[in-house]
Amino acid sequence: MIHKLSQKNSLTKKHTQNYRQYFALNRNTAGFNIQKKELIYTLVSDKSDGAFIWDIDDNKYIDLTMGFGSLLFGHNYLPIRTAIENQLTKSWSVGPMSPLAGILAEKITVATNTERVAFFNSGTEAIMVSLRIAKAVTKKKNVVFFKGAYHGTFDPLLTLKRDHQTNIAKESIPGITQSTLNESYVFDYGSEASLDFIKKNTNNIAAVLVEPVQSRNPSFQPIAFLKEIRSITEQNDIALIFDEVITGFRIDIGGCQKKFNIQADIVTYGKIIGGGLPIGIVAGKSKFLDAIDGGFWQYGDQSIPEAKSTFVAGTFCHHPLAMVTALKTLEILETSNGELLEDINIRTENFCNKMNAFFKENFPKLSIVHFGSLFRFVTPGKYKELYNQLLLNGVYIWEGRNCFLSAAHTTEVVALLEDKIKLSCKQLVENGIIKTQV
Ligand code: PMP
Repeated sequence: MIHKLSQKNSLTKKHTQNYRQYFALNRNTAGFNIQKKELIYTLVSDKSDGAFIWDIDDNKYIDLTMGFGSLLFGHNYLPIRTAIENQLTKSWSVGPMSPLAGILAEKITVATNTERVAFFNSGTEAIMVSLRIAKAVTKKKNVVFFKGAYHGTFDPLLTLKRDHQTNIAKESIPGITQSTLNESYVFDYGSEASLDFIKKNTNNIAAVLVEPVQSRNPSFQPIAFLKEIRSITEQNDIALIFDEVITGFRIDIGGCQKKFNIQADIVTYGKIIGGGLPIGIVAGKSKFLDAIDGGFWQYGDQSIPEAKSTFVAGTFCHHPLAMVTALKTLEILETSNGELLEDINIRTENFCNKMNAFFKENFPKLSIVHFGSLFRFVTPGKYKELYNQLLLNGVYIWEGRNCFLSAAHTTEVVALLEDKIKLSCKQLVENGIIKTQV
């Protein structure tokens, strides 16, 4: 494997080595282990189209990473590309406000059944602001979130440990110090313990933050738990924040809120809605979004921004290119009237069912779990070699292992993918890495 992949990805490895001294990139040491060090690199690519990418050695891969889930229509999708090109001929400057931002805000409130919207550059920023406004409005300071969720890299949410007596997040990552975690409480997702804690501490909890379906555990969809949390938070002036950076505009145009019929107070979006360009969105009830600008007022009368506001800002927050790609993304989704998303979701479901039937018969320890068009392979122990074997056979899955189908993953591409997965399993057996049942 080491020899074959090193040959196949020789320019990627050469490039990585040449720049390692200057370019600090943690993806290039993800999962480092001395026996595997020759296989630890991030694929280097500057060409992509539809469901495919090409690395700098000119190898072609079916891409299952899809911009970490940001490319719903596939790479280099012409309508998005044209929107960028047209906007480029007008302006890509920031400073004065792009007229596109207000138009996009209105359209997003309609699409997501929210009241107001604010724009940022990433999911992380959107999460950071959502916690800030939750604290500002409720005038409380603690935040409850759940193990297994990923909410980006905002310090108070970056830990893998908690104190088992108090459930306070415990420092576990260098640089994320305990004082930044002292207002963060971590529970098992879906646990009774979390419900009890929230009920007993309503006076101190500003927000409950959930990734409604966690990308790391997509088969767990605790709708009843979420409804219960909604009801407790609603009755106790606690902001319920849905992090829909992955599920938003994917599972449904209205995300998990629509799918599960649960209205959060604040919702964060990113990825898909940016059409491949950087974006983060905070949407939700005016009660919370008003903490950004003081709320609604008009010219020509005595009205004023009445709500007490906190502070948010960012040089690139309403970048015209991101605004235009978001508008185009929304337009495409709305024109398709839900069909485009449903198609991808059904295609993913069929693919997962087929693969699971194959795994069950031949490799019972292997499986795929999914939610909409997000899926993950479940690969215990040696089965993790599947990722390298797939790379060798032309399937690209990034180190975080979340996989996505896009509109560009047609039935033909998916059939090819299925063949490559089966072939990879067969080769792993031939090389003595895994065993088949039969
Ligand atoms: N929330 C969720 C659910 C995510 O999956 C991610 C990123 N994968 C983020 C937040 C952070 O978004 P970003 O990487 O754009 O900061």
